[in-house]
Amino acid sequence: MTDLQTAATPQASMRAIRVERLGPPDVMQLQDAPVPSPAPGEVRVRVEAVGINFADALAVAGEYLTRTRVPYTPGMEFAGIVDALGEGVQGVQVGTRVAALGGSGAMAEYATVPAAALIPVPQSLSGAQAAAFPVSYFTAYHGLKTLGRGEAGEWVLVQAAAGALGTASIQLAKALGLNVIALASTDEKLEIARTLGADVTILQDDPDRVKKVHDAAGGKGVPLILEVVGGKRFQESLDMAASRGRIIVIGNASREQANLRPVELMKRNLTVTGLWLTSLMNDAPATAEAARALAELVGSGQVIPQVGPTYALDQSVQAFEDLLNRRTTGKVIIEPGR
Ligand code: NDP
Repeated sequence: MTDLQTAATPQASMRAIRVERLGPPDVMQLQDAPVPSPAPGEVRVRVEAVGINFADALAVAGEYLTRTRVPYTPGMEFAGIVDALGEGVQGVQVGTRVAALGGSGAMAEYATVPAAALIPVPQSLSGAQAAAFPVSYFTAYHGLKTLGRGEAGEWVLVQAAAGALGTASIQLAKALGLNVIALASTDEKLEIARTLGADVTILQDDPDRVKKVHDAAGGKGVPLILEVVGGKRFQESLDMAASRGRIIVIGNASREQANLRPVELMKRNLTVTGLWLTSLMNDAPATAEAARALAELVGSGQVIPQVGPTYALDQSVQAFEDLLNRRTTGKVIIEPGR
């Protein structure tokens, strides 16, 4: 006998993205798959929206921090309606909207996830907004506060400022009282950054960008930098940092190698800190503190997850290509029910 509780028996099969070999986005295929049953401790969610991260594209390419095992269904963050509870799950209601941060499997009509991976969200958020929340906002919080130790009144530099993490970082930084310098590749993207409250915006390829960043921060450089581009831009981040500046390495969107000469750090007493959300989620006190702060800011409407372009499941290849080719702003969303 099983304790499985379900809202209604769904269809036996569903549509899901499958990856059988690693490579560019077009290795993703839309296939029929059985609707999964939740194992003990898991819940099944009818997926309303999947948040697509740069990391998803890197995982499909086999270039992520951890090895991608195939075959698999990508999709690490999503939101939807709880549809069935596995044995032993308590405190979760069938029929409520949840967000979840799991390892993979969300690019499908239904997904199962350990109940511990659910992230409560205000029911006022749409499915797409809820799916845009976990990765970007937890990462931004840890970059600004947990590891970055940003204080109200300090300047922070946000790269790729109109992207999913960038928009989350600007909103959170402003809500926490920091001053924001935003870098992005186009005027349209800088306009988005300004709309979200960025105090100073500079084109990423402006020939005077290093001087402009210094000038904006009172001539001294920036005390806190959220570094997501890597490659030669990492060296620039060192040049843009203030004495004793903290550079939080969060990503490598350029996919280029960077050279770090430790002596560079000594000269101005700089600190370079790596941030990987996956490992921080295992840090229970840090996660609880971030969740508490974010629940308050999202619940009060001070930060609103930024939904970007939205695609159907059969447009997944296009969604990934648009993200990789810098054509998107906000969080790229796939809606399996479309
Ligand atoms: P975004 O929505 O920010 O999209 C990526 C953006 O990166 C682009 O829009 C582009 O903005 C910028 N970019 C700069 N150089 C390049 C390049 N050569 N090719 C492609 N894009 C480039 O994506 P995410 O919010 O998902 O991720 C942003 C970064 O943060 C990524 O590096 C990602 O890996 C990292 N990340 C890391 C996490 C962690 O745990 N460490 C968690 C979440 C994100 P523009 O055109 O303005 O330059």
